[in-house]
Amino acid sequence: MYMKTALALLVVTALLNIILLKLFRQKQAELRDTTRLYSHLAGATGFDTLIKILAEEIDRRGVEVIGFYRKNALEKTLEGENVQIPLFEKSSAVKAFFTLSPCKLGSYHERDRALAEALGPDTVFIPVRMEKDEPCWKARACAVRGCAAYGKEQHACWLRAGKIYKGVNLPTHNEKLAKCISCKSFLPVGVFAVRGRRIKWVHTFITNHFSGALRNSVLYERAVYSASMDSLTKVFNRRSLEEHLLNAFKSAERYGQPLSLAMFDIDHFKKFNDTYGHQAGDSILRELAGLVSAFIREADILARYGGEEFCLVFPHTDKMHAFEITERIRAEIEENIFSAGRRVTVSMGVAGYPDDETAGAKALLKKADIALYRSKITRNTVTSYSEAFQDEGTDSV
Ligand code: GH3
Ligand code: MG
Ligand code: MG
Repeated sequence: MYMKTALALLVVTALLNIILLKLFRQKQAELRDTTRLYSHLAGATGFDTLIKILAEEIDRRGVEVIGFYRKNALEKTLEGENVQIPLFEKSSAVKAFFTLSPCKLGSYHERDRALAEALGPDTVFIPVRMEKDEPCWKARACAVRGCAAYGKEQHACWLRAGKIYKGVNLPTHNEKLAKCISCKSFLPVGVFAVRGRRIKWVHTFITNHFSGALRNSVLYERAVYSASMDSLTKVFNRRSLEEHLLNAFKSAERYGQPLSLAMFDIDHFKKFNDTYGHQAGDSILRELAGLVSAFIREADILARYGGEEFCLVFPHTDKMHAFEITERIRAEIEENIFSAGRRVTVSMGVAGYPDDETAGAKALLKKADIALYRSKITRNTVTSYSEAFQDEGTDSV
């Protein structure tokens, strides 16, 4: 009898040990996963990198990721590699996007039938949300359960006069505001199309780990964007130009490709400002940047170098072709009628690598500036750099 009890106890203890060991190993693996996830996140800065990490993490947990569909604000669609899902048209993807909860394909919607054909009938859409900077009382509806604005379309949360919250009537606006700050609000940014089990778990995982990280990545991208752009003309600034030019030069050297640079300056712009005012001058700078941007290829770079001076970088382009493009831009500016019927002309200088045996990015800038200086003799001209100009004196770059 005792033997039997002792044996049973031994078996139970052994089983318990096995279960505990299994649980311990599971916890250890989860901890390893989380540590790896956070070390990945620490290195991730951009939105796209985060989405990639997210897809890998979902995949690692046995759920197949078909794709990520992001919101394209301009086109009003959820846009993926091969599929465009129009917003405001009923479909599970769009429903998931707006309700922030996972949705399976429904056979009753036209759009879902098309998606089932494209992605497979057992596809599920999981929304990806980003934490917003603004508190819930500024958002259209609060996503925090317990908040009086939860699930409602009212604009001002419970800050409206006379609104009682959880049985307490907070009399002043400030008191209400102080309570409301803790409510976070979220913005849907896209949906994952996935296949597999544990969908709810994946949804919780995305919601818990990524909404803050996504906000940070967007803030980071915005900061990088504004640090590299000129606020008046919305083209690259000088710092960014120097960075791009250095990279383009290194790449041209490495792959034996040509590279050209044009520098241009508005003629008699001081007189223009004196005649029409500084604001009219600012409009010219903005319009001119827009005009030239529309003229160049996607790989070319337009930057504001200084006051009324701009630079154009033409990768993979020799000096002769760059001269032709630049001449067309000069003529386009000369022909253009800017706002209030005004006109301006520009003087331009072009230099090239390896055409001008340029030693580096800085030397290329210097040579384009020397050529521009030469154009200022007659103005409204494009000049291609020549070694003969070297001794004639220049502006300083
Ligand atoms: P040139 O044909 O020799 O280039 O003559 P210029 O008058 O254009 O050259 P200058 O260098 O004497 O004057 C440049 C003028 O550009 C001075 C300044 O009033 C104007 N400028 C520079 N930056 C801005 C800006 O951001 N906005 C406006 N409106 N004007 C600017
Ligand atoms: Mg000028
Ligand atoms: Mg100037």
